[in-house]
Amino acid sequence: MSDIMDLCELSPAYVRAIAPYPPGKPIAELARELGLEERSIVKLASNENPRGPSPNALAAIEAALPELARYPDGFELTRTLSQRLGVTMQQIVLGNGSNDVIELAGMAFLGPGCSAVSSQHAFAIYLLATQARGAHNIVVPAKNFGHDLEAMLAAIRPDTHVVFIANPNNPTGTMVSAAELESFLARAPKNVVVVLDEAYNEYLAPAVRCPSLAWLARFPKLIVMRTFSKVYGLAGLRVGYAVCHAELAALLNRVRQPFNVNNLAISAAVAALADQDFVRESYELNVAGMTQLLEGCKRLGLSWIPSYGNFVTVKIAPSGGKSQAGAVFQKLLGLGVIVRPLANYGMPDHLRVTVGLPSENARFLDALEAVQKA
Ligand SMILES: *Cc1c(COP(=O)(O)O)cnc(C)c1O
Repeated sequence: MSDIMDLCELSPAYVRAIAPYPPGKPIAELARELGLEERSIVKLASNENPRGPSPNALAAIEAALPELARYPDGFELTRTLSQRLGVTMQQIVLGNGSNDVIELAGMAFLGPGCSAVSSQHAFAIYLLATQARGAHNIVVPAKNFGHDLEAMLAAIRPDTHVVFIANPNNPTGTMVSAAELESFLARAPKNVVVVLDEAYNEYLAPAVRCPSLAWLARFPKLIVMRTFSKVYGLAGLRVGYAVCHAELAALLNRVRQPFNVNNLAISAAVAALADQDFVRESYELNVAGMTQLLEGCKRLGLSWIPSYGNFVTVKIAPSGGKSQAGAVFQKLLGLGVIVRPLANYGMPDHLRVTVGLPSENARFLDALEAVQKA
């Protein structure tokens, strides 16, 4: 065996077994491959805000540039969030994106000999964060592509330390109701941490939002996670956060890098929170864009999974028992439109499309029509 193989063997088997996360294809990469201009490409693959960041956030980033020689200080963002959310500063943990806080939950609560419960077709990072700790993933079959909370409850074992729930879920766009979730929280064992990932919370109609922060007082096992990557349009800066009981937050902070969120991200996030007009406009753009996409899909005779997020997962019917979604994805790429194939989520017949600007949605629908007709 070569030396390099010996070196790789030093890595625990559970690390070597991790399947890498496949990100959405970057615009620059497709532009290089096709010899196209970057601005001619439409990317609807990573649930980013098509409007970009709030102008407030951009101005704050510029203003923060001269301070880059300093180590970051999360105080101002933590204080702003605590006032906005009505929780104490000790209940908030900042993350380098909410991916980071998911990892922190894994580091703080999982290790070899324990397990985490999540749903089939749920956000892939839960599996990675669990496996990276040498813990066991219990994946519960989905119900109509959504979380089956009753089955997830039944799947909790004595060695289960964490349950991951994405609400709404990515990549399916499904959600569980506040009543179902509350009932789950009330019946789940007291000594199991429940991570509730609300990355798309701001895209929900107010009437269907869960009172998740209010639940914290009743359910100390709950960790709510949110992000600035979606409606706030700051995916490239990497900033998210967890809200939970102060004692759990203290544990997450023990495994957190002290400077995990950078100066620019902190300044931008504070400014973005102050621009709630931007959030409202983005929400409204999403409602209109979703209607545009669904009407287009209907016209093309396609079905989809009803979505509560800023994306929709469309079914591409197999032909002769063979999945066609991969081929459709490739043909769309050829037309300069990037969407997300979902074979790695166990959904080989679906493509996930982010709601874009009206012109981007139209480009996608035109390209899809051309591909379907060809
Ligand atoms: C996009 C997304 C996140 C956010 O990830 P960041 O690390 O904050 O960019 C978290 N959870 C789900 C389910 C998501 O789809």
